[in-house]
This record gives sequence, structure tokens and C-alpha cells, in this order.
Amino acid sequence: MTNEGNGAIMRELGISKQAYDFVRSAENSIKPVFEMIDANAEVNLARVLAGFRKENVGLRHFAPTTGYGYDDAGRDTLDRLFAHALFAEDALVRPQLTSGTHALYLALSGLCQMGDAVVAASGKPYDTLENAIGLSGDHPHSLKKQGVSFDYVDLNDDGSINIDGVLNMVAQKKAAVLYVQRSRGYAWRDSLLVNEHMAPLFRAVKERFPNVAIFVDNCYGEFTDVVEPLCAGADIIAGSLIKNPGGGIAPTGGYIAGKAKYIQRIENLLTVPGMGREVGSYAASYRPFYQGLYMAPHTTAQALKGAALFARVFEMLGMETMPSSNAKRSDIVQAVRFEEAEGLISFCRSIQSASPVDSAAVPEPWDMPGYTSQVIMAAGAFVQGSSIELSADAPIRKPYTAYVQGGLTYEHCSLAAMLVLTDLIKKGIAKL
Ligand SMILES: *Cc1c(COP(=O)(O)O)cnc(C)c1O
Repeated sequence: MTNEGNGAIMRELGISKQAYDFVRSAENSIKPVFEMIDANAEVNLARVLAGFRKENVGLRHFAPTTGYGYDDAGRDTLDRLFAHALFAEDALVRPQLTSGTHALYLALSGLCQMGDAVVAASGKPYDTLENAIGLSGDHPHSLKKQGVSFDYVDLNDDGSINIDGVLNMVAQKKAAVLYVQRSRGYAWRDSLLVNEHMAPLFRAVKERFPNVAIFVDNCYGEFTDVVEPLCAGADIIAGSLIKNPGGGIAPTGGYIAGKAKYIQRIENLLTVPGMGREVGSYAASYRPFYQGLYMAPHTTAQALKGAALFARVFEMLGMETMPSSNAKRSDIVQAVRFEEAEGLISFCRSIQSASPVDSAAVPEPWDMPGYTSQVIMAAGAFVQGSSIELSADAPIRKPYTAYVQGGLTYEHCSLAAMLVLTDLIKKGIAKL
């Protein structure tokens, strides 16, 4: 780029030359990582496009529907497209699934009956599920109150799954469902890789307990790899459409995908026993969900490159990151550790100020519903709460860890990294 171009970037957003040069050199040092990510995106898009071709997607699928929504071709075809993209027999993709948590809760409720036990192999599940499961709170429709127990086995210190511990717990509880969370969520641990971590666990569980249903919280994981958990023997996965598989275009929603026999049980809980997936209309048109899925492999790749860049920048500053910039990733989340809450807060505020929406907002720690400690969030997204758009969250608790994810374009991530660094240098938190 010309010097004039560099200068314009710095002037427009208030980025210091020091920060600009530092981030550029971080970027230059991880080009091979970016090449790998782009290659995966192409593989994933090929699969998505093959699905569109197989279903002969046309304008008719984008027609709005009303009322009961019987024979809604847009809805039913979208289900099949997601199934194809995620290696599933069947899928439910619905704007009426209000969030990832909703999809996960519905799927678990549909899989379990009174007296069943769920065993999680990835430690304590994501914060928003605590009330739903009944680990905290006292809600009459929590899994616990429905007579479903939930126990978890922590990951090993090196981040791998404690397979023997899980097998013992499954046997002891006579578990009906094995639960795995793919992403790190708000935990200082690595995401679980499909082939390396999940496949051996799933093989071992299926060998000894063929009737256990394997369920994966796939939030943040979709399209980060060229395989999905269903390839490794999972039976059901669920996730949010305002994360990876919505491609930054889907305005809301969630999905559940997997074995047809399980999807059938879940669809009857989604609406009404006996009606299941036959009902459900959407007057706003499913078009953005189609376009979102089409964009998803690329958008996820942009977010992954952004995450690797943030990791590299903080590595070069000598700070702790999880994962490292050249790690193989199974989610889009990048964790960065600060020594003081001040660094954490500065980081989130810079991300906010680099956002296209609400850039003037100043994030403050608050008691977010569903979370057990105060959280500070930077979210300047077109879709409220969308975390495939560049966003950062940090529970205000020691050690001070910020989780940054998303970015619809890599350029946005790199500009945000420059702004973050400019502010950290100004405050004396980062020293080059
Ligand atoms: C985001 C997320 C959820 C919950 O999804 P929401 O859409 O925020 O309700 C659950 N598990 C993991 C790992 C997540 O990242």
C-alpha cells in the first residue's frame, strides 16, 4: 500500500502509526494461517452450493408465508439445505428458535424424558444454560424440574476430554444423553476439534453404550473446520443463526440438526405433538436465512482470520492468549488475558468504537440475564446481539479475560485491532 493509503487509514479512525505498523507486521507473520482458513472456506462453500443445487433453490423459496404455514416450501427446503451443509439426515431451522440457548434447551428437552440423565464431557456448560438445566435458579421447566439430571466431567488440564472419566460417569448415571460443548464459551480452555477430540470420545461411548444419544452444542463451531460433529458420530447438534451459520445475514433464529429419529421427537416439542414441523410460517421471508447460509463459510473464515490476528498481536505484546495464532481452531472465539480489569474494559470500549453501529456507546459492566457474574460487552452490530459480527465479551472476574469473536470482514478486524492497540498504548497498558 502507498504511504498515502496508510496515512488515510490512520487519520480516518484515529489509529496511531505505531499501532498500524505493529498490526501490519503481526498480519504478515501469519499469512500461512490465513491460507489454510481460506482453503477450508472454499471446501465448505462447495458443500453449501451443492446443497443449493440439489434443492434447485429458486425465487419461489423466498416467498413470504402466513398463518399455519402448511407446505411452506421456503421453510422445508431451508431445513434440507442446513441438513446437507452440516452432514445431517435432517434439520430444523427456525426464526422461532429465539437463540442458541433456546435451540439447545429445546433439543435437550426433546431428547430426554423424566428420569433420564445427561452427562457432559466438556465440563460446566455455557453460562446461559445454567437456568435451563437447573444448575442454578429454580424454574419449574428446567430440565432438573422435569426430572432430568445433569452431571459433568471436567476436561483434563491439557484441554483434552477425560474419556475414562466420562465413560464411568455415563455408566454410573445410566445416561441417556452425552453432552459436549464444542466452543470454549466463557472458559479458558481450547475448543474441541471434531476429529482429534470428539471422534475418539464418540467411538468409545458408542462402543460401550450404543443407545446413548450424543448431543453437541455447536455454537460458534460451524464451518470453522471442513467436518462437523455429526461426521464424528454425534447424533444431534444445535446452534444459533446469529453466529456462524447465519453468515451475518440471518436476522434471528436457531437450528437443530442430526439423526431423523431424534429430530422427529424434537419437532413435536418445537410446536405441538402431532403437528411438529408441519406448522410455522414466516411473513418476513426466509430469504436472509438462505443468503446467510450461502455467506456462512466465507463469513466464518473472516472471523477466524480476525481471531488469529488478535491472537498474534497479543502474542507479540507478550500477553497470554488462547488459542495461539497458529492453532487449529474449532470455534471463532479468541481469548486474551489482561492483568487488570482496566485493560479488559479498554479493550471492549475500543472494539465498540470500531463498530459500524453504536460506535459512540461506552460499554459498562452489567448484570446480564442468564449470566452469573457481571459482564461487559462490546457489540456494535447490525443484528442485535449478533456475535458473528465483531464483538467482545468479558465477565468481570479474575483472571481478566476478554473473549473476542466475529467480524463480517477481515478488514474490520484488523482496523479494530489497530484501534485497540492505539488505545492500550495511550493508556500505558501495552508497551511496544
Ligand atoms: C452463544 C453460545 C450459546 C448460547 O447461544 P445464545 O444464542 O447466546 O443463546 C451456547 N453455547 C455456546 C458455546 C455459545 O457460544
